[in-house]
Amino acid sequence: MKQKNINKSNESITKRTDLAINGAEPAFSEPLHVGRPNIGNRELFLQYTEQILDSRWLTNNGPVVRELEEKIAEYHSVAHCVAMCSGTIALEIAIRALKLKGEVILPSYTYIATAHALHWQGIRPVFADIDPQTHNLDPDAVRQAVNSRTTGIIGVHLWGRTAAVEALQEIANEHELKLIFDAAHAFGCSHQGRKIGAFGDCEVLSFHATKFFHTFEGGAVLTNNARLAEKMRLMRNFGFAGVDNVIYPGTNGKMTEISAAMGVSNLQAIDKVIKHNHLIHQAYQQALAGIPSLRLLEFDQNESNNYQYVIVETTEDCPVTRDHLVEMLHAENILARRYFWPGCHNMKPYRDLYPESTSNLSSTEQVSERVIVLPNGSCMDRASVEIVAAVLQVALEVPIADQTSI
Ligand SMILES: *Cc1c(COP(=O)(O)O)cnc(C)c1O
Repeated sequence: MKQKNINKSNESITKRTDLAINGAEPAFSEPLHVGRPNIGNRELFLQYTEQILDSRWLTNNGPVVRELEEKIAEYHSVAHCVAMCSGTIALEIAIRALKLKGEVILPSYTYIATAHALHWQGIRPVFADIDPQTHNLDPDAVRQAVNSRTTGIIGVHLWGRTAAVEALQEIANEHELKLIFDAAHAFGCSHQGRKIGAFGDCEVLSFHATKFFHTFEGGAVLTNNARLAEKMRLMRNFGFAGVDNVIYPGTNGKMTEISAAMGVSNLQAIDKVIKHNHLIHQAYQQALAGIPSLRLLEFDQNESNNYQYVIVETTEDCPVTRDHLVEMLHAENILARRYFWPGCHNMKPYRDLYPESTSNLSSTEQVSERVIVLPNGSCMDRASVEIVAAVLQVALEVPIADQTSI
């Protein structure tokens, strides 16, 4: 059955004049977004909402937040889950609870919040380069960036593919550094068969609405360290150790009950969401296989993944620039994205503060100029994937003018 947002079939996109950028009708009548929010189990959410409203317990470590924390900890086989109001606040509280200061090493190829969380805690983010194959921190680059001011490392499990956990831990041990993982992309993902959550000193999740698993806004820190978890619980609630007893200058990082209800509802539907994402990812794999100028990033089939991110890279000999490809996709209402271009170090705050930090980030710059994130999730089905592939196929044919000039 034809989806209501599809204007034409993939068979009718065969030449350049079939593309919307050249005046044809867009392939989709409504935009396909990267990260369209999941709704999970709607009935369950509404049921919880009624309960929350009836109980008048809306926030302050309520029963639904505690239920969600327990379920998420269990899902990741980790002892403690401390839920927060956002992934960024969760990062900041983890950074503060671990007493990081001075300099902390992190990739530049990440969402800007990883760097901001350090800067907001008065810490200098020191950007190290990535491995162009994995898109994750290159341990050799991390080793080179360590100096006497370094107090920690933040590895990012980018696209849900885990960072070089053992190598980073080894560097941390050697230099007595703390190790945090930004696991914002990695809900439910595994590393050598073990779910993320207990690696490093702690791991930080984001539950923002566009993430694979969400609570409208929210986040959490996972750890097996009971003392660290207790400290973070204190910090997220103004430092209250009991009624009228403040023992730490804390902040407000609490998650609301309604957010937790969305979390519980999303958790109930999570297997279905993963299955759908995986099928769509496989459909992309098949549909893009015949296009030589694009490389689809693969997931290790021996690990758990959420398959949320469909990442393609343009190859060196790609006849069309990445940005022009994105432009052509947008014209079709396929809202592909250029994550995380141009890298945190090239964003104004960090470029102005640390202009010298641009050296030695060549893989970061190369990858950030080649990556396209294609839509996955609830807005996609197999037919839509085939249309996206047909657009890319036609868009990537070498233009006549370029052929004659070779
Ligand atoms: C989304 C994200 C964050 C920030 O999380 P919020 O919940 O939006 O504050 C941090 N790091 C990475 C890698 C992210 O993708």
